[in-house]
Amino acid sequence: MIDEADHSWMRLAIELARQKGTSPRDTPIAAVVVMEGRLLASAVNETEETNDATAHAEMVAFRKGGAAHGDMDLRGATLYSTLQPCGMCTMASIWAKVGRIVYGAGREDVHSMYFEDRHLDTMDFIRDAWRDDLTLEGGCLTEECCRLYFRPDDDVPLEDQGNI
Ligand SMILES: [Zn+2]
Repeated sequence: MIDEADHSWMRLAIELARQKGTSPRDTPIAAVVVMEGRLLASAVNETEETNDATAHAEMVAFRKGGAAHGDMDLRGATLYSTLQPCGMCTMASIWAKVGRIVYGAGREDVHSMYFEDRHLDTMDFIRDAWRDDLTLEGGCLTEECCRLYFRPDDDVPLEDQGNI
């Protein structure tokens, strides 16, 4: 269940995303990792800035979080992301052993350019994982998060579509 503490962490993520830019073209995606009620790491999408296809906000947050924690195992932590994590970041969440993934804008709320595959549901990755202690919850400040992104019916130029 999403509660007031979740809203508060998501507000921080939205704030970070907005610092990157207010246009969807600025890829304002942010992630926050919280462990035992404290901020462990936060990050924004850095793919273009670092020429690194793996530098999604969640991946960068796991790198920073592992360094801060002194262990790649982030068991018990919650990952907050302004946008539903893609396949890569969902898999990374499983490997990082976080306990919860909470996101704002969901796959159906935004343009298809944000997801690498046509039909695979990241929920299936989690259902099929060996771990049974990981939950994925959407609907956290969804409207605010959606305002950051291209919407499903927006006419996005092909060169701006990162998944093609
Ligand atoms: Zn991702």
